[in-house]
Amino acid sequence: MPLYEFRCESGHVRERALSMHSEERSIVCPECGGESSRLISAPGLSRLGSARARAIGAAEASAHAPAVVDRVPGAGSRRSAPVTRDPRHAKLPRP
Ligand SMILES: [Zn+2]
Repeated sequence: MPLYEFRCESGHVRERALSMHSEERSIVCPECGGESSRLISAPGLSRLGSARARAIGAAEASAHAPAVVDRVPGAGSRRSAPVTRDPRHAKLPRP
């Protein structure tokens, strides 16, 4: 669930996880007992831990810290691992 921020008249800010469809616009401030109204801000979706959030985080990280590749992927490793040991397959034409 996304996090929403609430602020009371005394300025206490509190976060609370609510569903996207929640109609809760105000809560009671646990510090002063006053009414806290919901702030208009972006909900904390990145704390969900979803696959999409991880993909966005990986894309942002690769912009300033790309993964280092020191060789061509798959080069020289195609013929080293035989797929079959059947001697009849050795007579088949190769691509
Ligand atoms: Zn308060």
